[in-house]
Amino acid sequence: MDCVGGFMNNIKLSNRLHLLLEKIPSGSKFADIGSDHALLPIAAIESKRVVFAVAGEVNPGPFDAACKAVAAAGLRNVISVRRGDGLEVLEPGEVDCITVAGMGGSLIASILERGQALGKLEGVSVLALQPNVGEDILRRWLLENGWLLIAEDILEEDGKIYEVLTAVPEVGGSELSSENLYKEVVLNQGRVTCGREMLIQMGPWLLKAPNAAFFKKWQGEISKLETIVASLSRSELESAEDKRMATQARIQEITEVLECLPKDKL
Ligand code: SAM
Repeated sequence: MDCVGGFMNNIKLSNRLHLLLEKIPSGSKFADIGSDHALLPIAAIESKRVVFAVAGEVNPGPFDAACKAVAAAGLRNVISVRRGDGLEVLEPGEVDCITVAGMGGSLIASILERGQALGKLEGVSVLALQPNVGEDILRRWLLENGWLLIAEDILEEDGKIYEVLTAVPEVGGSELSSENLYKEVVLNQGRVTCGREMLIQMGPWLLKAPNAAFFKKWQGEISKLETIVASLSRSELESAEDKRMATQARIQEITEVLECLPKDKL
């Protein structure tokens, strides 16, 4: 379904969406899936970063909002607002870049999975993804589906922490490979090792150059785990002790990694 539909210039993007905008290659055609008010496509066209955009929305309310915003900006000739589930709104080869932001990592992974099965990722050279939670699920999906993670960013805005993962199709023979990216990292002269699982959970690029938002996110995770340990300690269930010990071990693992990371970006 396409929409029918004045003027409203210079959308002011949040820092989160601005970061995503910067990941879209200049001069490309891109699709923003789950676009809501189509803020990103409008800003991408108004800033002349892209020449054409698709704003995809599955739900009627956000789809109407996107149609109205695109019409109000006078951009109906260059932004196609389409209603449908995930990448179904795209023709194979139609866009070079896809952004999906503001959803859980597992929903984004399932959108990519279903889209890939339908050939909708053909010709796509950049995926810029901003999961609200479940970043590890998305890293795993990218790794298992031939997408090389080339950048990770993390920022705090309005009290929330956001990660942006950027990936490109993996080609053999390049020095940068998923195999190298997720190779075990030895920290603190061998006292702490960060294996593949930890790299998938925390982010291989983020671990190389952790900033204040990264440390805050993981201190927050530790606090949540400590609350779980406290409640398990009060439990009389037999299974609680095993869970408490596993959770305590997880806290220690994260704490040790955080202690060994460079602090120059704080
Ligand atoms: N991308 C915008 C952003 O980051 O500010 C909007 C994020 S909003 C929280 C998530 C949007 O994704 C909602 O408008 C929702 O309707 C849409 N959405 C959820 N599942 C979707 C799917 N399978 N296909 C397309 N849109 C979807």
